[in-house]
Amino acid sequence: MFKKERQDGRRKALVAGGAGFVGSHLCDALLAEGTDIICVDSLLTGSFDNVRALENHPGFRFIEHDITSTLTIGDEIDEVYNLACAASPPRYQADPSHTLLTNVVGTANLLALAEQHRAAFLQASTSEIYGDPEVHPQPETYRGSVNCTGPRACYDEGKRAAETLCFDHLRQERVDARVARIFNTYGPRMQQDDGRIVSNLIFQALQGRPLTVYGSGRQTRSFCYVSDMVAGLIALMRVSPNPGAPVNLGNPEELPVIELARRVLDLVPGAKDIDFLPLPEDDPQRRRPDIARAKALLDWEPLVPLSKGLASTIDWFAALSPENPDRGKI
Ligand code: NAD
Ligand code: UDP
Repeated sequence: MFKKERQDGRRKALVAGGAGFVGSHLCDALLAEGTDIICVDSLLTGSFDNVRALENHPGFRFIEHDITSTLTIGDEIDEVYNLACAASPPRYQADPSHTLLTNVVGTANLLALAEQHRAAFLQASTSEIYGDPEVHPQPETYRGSVNCTGPRACYDEGKRAAETLCFDHLRQERVDARVARIFNTYGPRMQQDDGRIVSNLIFQALQGRPLTVYGSGRQTRSFCYVSDMVAGLIALMRVSPNPGAPVNLGNPEELPVIELARRVLDLVPGAKDIDFLPLPEDDPQRRRPDIARAKALLDWEPLVPLSKGLASTIDWFAALSPENPDRGKI
């Protein structure tokens, strides 16, 4: 119903948010398998440095654009990946109305573009749609516990509304839309000052500053390495038939954030001890994906253990240090 026949046998993907952390790794992976890329990004929280290495690739094009405004693309597009949205709580709370509009108006704009091109669409949703969950681990059938008036609501409720838009477009047979519920993802190219725990802890450890842990540190998260996440996103975009339901993508290995801090202390020589700071409002207490659906439908599960992923993320952050001669070439 949605399918179209390409005249030239090539595949072209539009990656919104492609200059961000996950989006830039997605651009790398798609280009490497022969898919041409139109990377659309406002550079709000991303950086052109993340895609600079692709700049001269004949299959890569960059458009600086905010998705809250409509977008027209002349080239034929086969896939639209929507990753455009600040993901770190301090960043998405800095301009909450813009965050909400990015998710609602921005997603509607990209769905309209996908409909026009008869392109498949993948929405980067989030574990945040489960809020502070009463069900653990979280399966896709759990409907969540979100405070719709709290400081995280601009993101959580925006992402929930974006999912609604996707499934309405799918039900109306307008767009072949798919929804990935992404759980905490980490790796090289996280912004070192964006406030998320993995980048904060590693940056602090490398600078010999105390590691900041909010609250008691007993709250849990499950961390997925970025290469695993990108493989899951591409698998979900390509799986046939369309699952017709959201799919959790994340690493089910769950640990308290204090334990993550201890692991970073162990891996970074000279790192200082831990500073306990107040827990932010509405901070979810537990989070761990149930990935049975992803395993069954996509034959996907994370392959990179936390020890290995943390070590390579630390190496990458260390290479950004002003003393490193390779700084800027990464
Ligand atoms: P990121 O902040 O590094 O990347 C987001 C990108 O979107 C940035 O390059 C930013 O400039 C761009 N952007 C933001 N608003 C925009 C707008 N209105 N128009 C155009 N571009 C805009 O974040 P990330 O970690 O790479 O996350 C990517 C996506 O995955 C986000 O949608 C996020 O909600 C989702 N996600 C990420 C995680 C995670 O742990 N990294 C977890 C759950 C969901
Ligand atoms: N956190 C922390 N220290 C930091 C940054 C975050 O202890 O320097 C905590 C935060 O309160 C939350 C967890 O780590 O409980 C994950 O936070 P992050 O912002 O990375 O992601 P999210 O809360 O969106 O899952």
